[in-house]
Amino acid sequence: MHVIVIGAGVTGTTTAWFLRAAGLSVTLLDAADLPARGASAANGGMLHASHAEPWNAPGVGWDLLRYLGRVDSPLLLRPRALPGIIPWGMEFLWNSRRERFERNTLFNARLAEYSLRELRALQQELQLDFDFAESGILKIFQDPQSLKKNWAASQAMAEVGVRFEVWDGARVAAEEPALEPIAHRLCGALFFPDDAIGNAARFTRELAATAERAGVRWLPNTLVTGWRRFQGQINGIETSRGPMAADAVVLASGFAAPGLLRSLGIRLPVAPVKGYSLTLDLEDAWRPRLPIIDDANKVVLTPLGGRLRLAGTAEFTGADLRMNASRAENVLAQCRHTLPRLPEHVDPATMEPWAGLRPMSARGTPILGPTPVPGLYLNTGAGHLGWTFACGSAGLVRDSILGREPALPLEPFLLHGNPVGGQPAG
Ligand SMILES: Cc1cc2nc3c(=O)[nH]c(=O)nc-3n(C[C@H](O)[C@H](O)[C@H](O)COP(=O)(O)OP(=O)(O)OC[C@H]3O[C@@H](n4cnc5c(N)ncnc54)[C@H](O)[C@@H]3O)c2cc1C
Repeated sequence: MHVIVIGAGVTGTTTAWFLRAAGLSVTLLDAADLPARGASAANGGMLHASHAEPWNAPGVGWDLLRYLGRVDSPLLLRPRALPGIIPWGMEFLWNSRRERFERNTLFNARLAEYSLRELRALQQELQLDFDFAESGILKIFQDPQSLKKNWAASQAMAEVGVRFEVWDGARVAAEEPALEPIAHRLCGALFFPDDAIGNAARFTRELAATAERAGVRWLPNTLVTGWRRFQGQINGIETSRGPMAADAVVLASGFAAPGLLRSLGIRLPVAPVKGYSLTLDLEDAWRPRLPIIDDANKVVLTPLGGRLRLAGTAEFTGADLRMNASRAENVLAQCRHTLPRLPEHVDPATMEPWAGLRPMSARGTPILGPTPVPGLYLNTGAGHLGWTFACGSAGLVRDSILGREPALPLEPFLLHGNPVGGQPAG
């Protein structure tokens, strides 16, 4: 059986590896010259089952209205993007009802748990070099209400195996000296010992090279333009290099997936949500030892391979990849609240700003597995959790192609699955 995987981000590359490891013949292709040129290039690096909540939490509609057009806010809806995301936006808001949000959080948490187990097994086998650290992740709070809300959410996730500890400000300062200057402002923190970090782009490129050595055909600079069908079944694709035949195709093209599906009459509720990161040099003495999520300022600070990566912001702006200096500066400004002495110790010349588009499903769970068109499978829509989900979603898609019993029920992640009122299974 020959499978073509479209998109060599972290999702597609991991899928290609899992399929090849199961003995299938695989082609992995991408419009770009290298794997991980899209959303996987410089993300926050967090591998966190603890953070499995979809972004469409109850009340998100009010937050979007409150921040409408405000460029200094962590959540920005550009009025000009509104017409393009109306159907997606309605579904996004509809899924923010408490019952659906809580269910989808549990689906995500189970997938993330499974994914991190699969990642550890893969790492045991392949020993890839991607700044992987089993450091745990620290989430800090300045507002008692937020701490209480997150503590309750963490208790719910503890039921699916996500362990956590509650730390006070003194413990935070003792465990993470970089936070000592703001420890007096903290009302507490949650520490998730089983979370980890790693450089998604390095992982993707190392895995792509390993997969190529194991027989995966890697085709860079190959734009997919359409589908080939025989008797209603997908039997190949049209590309900038000409037609290619396949027994099955996995679409893992990130935020671009809905465009390719339109000609098949499939509406995929996935939209781009822009985020920014800054990677910079910071002396060991000032760099946090632990990865930090600052709840109040909506940023993550991740020590990655001797550097520090700052990431954040969610901007509904359509498929617009332009670097907006004020949004990148906004990430830095927010991080100054977390590490007040950051500006004194950073050489601006070492700062690498980046913008990426998260492929966000309106449901808040990724969209995986078969479609109504035989031979076509999906692996996209992971939003802010694509790195965390990569190995788990690849495992579920592999099992679905092979007709194997999956490790988790696939139903919550199917394009037309996840019905209202169902209970999380598994
Ligand atoms: C600022 C920011 C911080 C983040 N932090 C984290 C984090 O800490 N933890 C976490 O788990 N997740 C995080 N994420 C989310 C995560 O990075 C994404 O969910 C993930 O990278 C998506 O991977 P992907 O492979 O699905 O998409 P992509 O990496 O975008 O890959 C899609 C690929 O498809 C290719 N493609 C598209 N169309 C075509 C076509 N027609 N033909 C051929 N190729 C095509 C593109 O060139 C691209 O290479 C973050 C995202 C951002 C933006």
